[in-house]
Order: sequence, then structure tokens, then C-alpha cells
Amino acid sequence: MGQTEENIARAEGYLARFRQTGVMNHVGGQSVAAASGETFEIISPVDLAPLARVALGGREDIDAAARAAKAAFPGWAATPGAERRAILIRVAEAIEARAEEIAFTECMDTGQALRFMSKAAIRGAANFRYYADQAPYAEDGQVTRTPTQMNTTSRRPIGPVGVITPWNTPFMLSTWKIAPALAAGCTVVLKPAEFSPITAKLLVEIAEDAGLPPGVLNVVNGFGEEAGRALTEHPAIKAIAFVGESRTGSMIMAQGAATLKRVHFELGGKNPVIVFDDADLDRAVDAAVFMIYSLNGERCTSSSRLLVQESIHDEVTARVAEAARRIKVGHPLDPDTVVGPLIHPEHEAKVLSYFARAREEGATIAAGGEKVGETGCYVAPTLFTGATNDMTIAQEEIFGPVLTAIPFRDEEDALRIANDVPYGLAAYLWTNDLNRAMRMTDALEAGMMWVNSENIRHLPTPFGGVKASGIGRDGGHWSFDFYMETVNVSFPRQSHRIPKLGA
Ligand code: NAD
Repeated sequence: MGQTEENIARAEGYLARFRQTGVMNHVGGQSVAAASGETFEIISPVDLAPLARVALGGREDIDAAARAAKAAFPGWAATPGAERRAILIRVAEAIEARAEEIAFTECMDTGQALRFMSKAAIRGAANFRYYADQAPYAEDGQVTRTPTQMNTTSRRPIGPVGVITPWNTPFMLSTWKIAPALAAGCTVVLKPAEFSPITAKLLVEIAEDAGLPPGVLNVVNGFGEEAGRALTEHPAIKAIAFVGESRTGSMIMAQGAATLKRVHFELGGKNPVIVFDDADLDRAVDAAVFMIYSLNGERCTSSSRLLVQESIHDEVTARVAEAARRIKVGHPLDPDTVVGPLIHPEHEAKVLSYFARAREEGATIAAGGEKVGETGCYVAPTLFTGATNDMTIAQEEIFGPVLTAIPFRDEEDALRIANDVPYGLAAYLWTNDLNRAMRMTDALEAGMMWVNSENIRHLPTPFGGVKASGIGRDGGHWSFDFYMETVNVSFPRQSHRIPKLGA
């Protein structure tokens, strides 16, 4: 048996329980069916065969989960930070111990290649470990003094929160939200994406096995318009951390208005990688290829627009096209695969529609531009050249292994093109001119920029976007600003004179 077949057999072992009993909701420490008794089917993008049946949660299930989170909140919030830390460290260790199960399951559920999913599972553990270590200091604030008053500022957890996640890298992304929420002392109701719900169930089981009290983390499956909507409207839920499309973010903001929800949005992107002619081209090409074709291009920070200075445009695009043609498309559990199947036939159809659109708009398909194979949602790594920034393929988030190359003249032209999109999540800049790098990073409209580098996350740094790419920041103590309320208590330093009215 080859390595891929062996991996598939192991994945089947992990999936067997879900194939038999389905993916249940998890409320108040119990595995439960939906209140309606209804389920929906999920398929694997590998072969479109059914994978499991999933509890179809709705308003009643969300209400039960929100009540469980509300009931668990006072106890969890009052648990000393050092104890929360110890529990969350055990969760991180348990994730590491079951990393293969998480990665293999996620590969079959999402189509993402094992080489990336095995790292994503470990990164999920790192998220827990990092925020575990912050838990003892989550309440910290500052003291400010005047001659008469001493002000003490501190933070307290906001209450039960809702977390709504998308289908790309769902395990890692949910830990990125849940770990800081739990470290802060909040309790959580998670609504995973309907296309990829399995690893959320693994996460809650792992966390409870590691000692997380029942009701602190709850999972309700279902569709966005029903379960998701009910979560954003529930009065017991104080805040919604959402990762997904920009237009869904707008809907959530409107839905949460009546209950004055605090919202944190990590939304879409159309991120430029800008290559000047003085850059180290070998490294720039490697990074550009990595940032669009890793994770199937289903990655919010993917560099989906390649802006290249005119003098090096043909050379750079030829090298990217060559790399794109060499990339292995295949079964996500094949260790050599780089690009696996896209998440779902609906999403595949969306990505394929941009190939036709590119032709209509007059762009050239320099690599890919077609479906691969007969079954499963496989798409060839694609490069469009001869594009202008007003084309749909340069403006809309395609969310697949699809790169649009656009030439630019000079710095001013590069900036104009880079900023001329609704989004502002990330930007990648390649130049060896330090002053130019300073000028460009001052003017680029993006929440995160990497100079002469691909995306390398450092957990204490802020993560988030500007414009239609999001509201708020994760990472470091920024996450606590969202999951906690900052309060100030003022003490008198002496018996100061109080104005006497009506004396
Ligand atoms: P999506 O917006 O369609 O769905 C995301 C989640 O929202 C799902 O769980 C869905 O069920 C739920 N939802 C849908 N409608 C809802 C409603 N009315 N009320 C409440 N919940 C609702 O996004 P997707 O297609 O699953 O994910 C891809 C998107 O996520 C891309 O745009 C990508 O850029 C973005 N993303 C952003 C980041 C980031 O950090 N900025 C990270 C990953 C993904």
C-alpha cells in the first residue's frame, strides 16, 4: 500500500464514527441531536460522496446553547486565570496528541492538502498555548492618578459570545477565536460552517476531555440564515466574532443591531503582492507562488493580485506560470499534493466562472484555467496575465488557486492599483529600497503588510483588515479588547471638596 492509500485508510478509521452516528451538536457538555430531529448531509470534495449527516440546528438549538453558555459563564469567569491557563494548556496538549486525526479529518472534509492541514492542527494547539499563557493577565489594566483621584482600569469578560466560522481551515480558525475568548473568561457558542463541521465536534470533545467544564464551549451546526442568524440575534450572547465573507458581515451587523451586539469581523481580501525591479526575484516568485497556491488559494490572506513592475513583468509572470503548471493537484491525503479539491461543487462552479469571465474581459490565461479530472472539485492552479485592475478578476475575491497579474510603471502607479479595490486585508511588498518600502507601507491600505516575505504569523502581533476586509484586531492583547469590557474605578486620594448644591 502506498502512503496515500495508507493515509486514506487511516482517515476512514477516524471518520467511521461520524459516518455511523453523524455529527451531533454539543450543548452543556452533552452530544445532542437537533431539537427538530432533522439532519443535513455533507459530502467530501474529494469524490463528492456523502461523508456524514449533521444535526440541523435552528433557533431552538441556539437558544439551548446560549442558555448553557450563560449558565456556565459566572463559574468560568470566576475561575482564577492561573486555573484557566492550566486547563487551556491541557487542551493544547490534547490537540497535539490528536493532531493527525484532526488533520486527516479536515483534509477529507475540506479538500485541503495534508502538508498544510497537519501544520494547521499544530497551529490550533499553538493558539491555545499562547492564550493560555495570557489568561492570568487578561484582567490587567492601568492606574492613573490625579491629585485627588486614583483611577484603576481593569478588564472583565464580556459574557457568553458567539463564534461563526467559515469552511477554509475551520479547525485552526475556530481556535483563533475560541482560545482568547476562553482565556478571557468568556463562554462560547460556536456555529461552524455548514460545509465543514466535523473538526468543531472534535475540538469540543478534546477540550472537555482535557477538563474544560461543560457549557463553557458549545457547538450548534446548521445553516447561516437559520442557526447563524439566531446566534447573532440571541439576547444572552454579548458579542459575535465572525470570519467569513464581507457581505455576510454586513448582514450580521444588521441582525445584531437590535441586541446591540459587539462585532469583530475578519472578512474577505484581494491582497496585492507588489514586486519592484530591484527585488530579489527568486524569493519574490517563491513567495508569490506560495501565497496563492497554498491552501488551495482558499485563504483570506492569499496574494491574489500580482502587481509587477513593467521591466520585469514578462520574466516574473513566466516564472510564476511555470511553477503553477508544475504544482501537483491531487488527493488531499497524498503527501505530494499541493492543491487539493475546492471545498464544494458550488464553490468550484464560482471559481470556474472566473475563467470564462477572464476570457470575456480580454485577459490571457497563462496557466491553468480549467477543471482537472472528472470527479471531485479539482481546479488547475491558474494565472491570468494581460489584466487591468478594473476587470472583475482583479476586483472580486475568487477564493481559489487563481492569480491575476497586472503590470505597473512606478511607485505611484503601484500604489494606485494596490489600493483600488474594496478590500484591505494584507499586502506583500518586494523591494530592496528601504526608503521606498517606508513610503509604500505608509500609504498601502491594508491591515497587515509583509516586506520581502510571505505571510508569517507571530501571535502577539495584530491580525485584521481595513475597508471591506474587517473590523477589529486579533492577536496579542487586542483579542482581549474584544472579548472583555474595560472598566474604570475611581478612588478619592483625600477628602476633596465636593460641590454643595442646595445648601
Ligand atoms: P460565509 O460568509 O459564506 O460563511 C461564513 C459563516 O457565516 C458560515 O458559518 C455561515 O453559515 C455563516 N453565515 C452565513 N450567513 C449568515 C447569517 N445571515 N447570519 C449569521 N451567520 C451566517 O463565508 P465562507 O464562504 O464560509 O468563507 C469564505 C470567506 O471567509 C472568504 O470571503 C474569506 O476571505 C473569508 N475569510 C476571512 C478571513 C480573515 O481573517 N479575514 C479568514 C478566513 C476566511
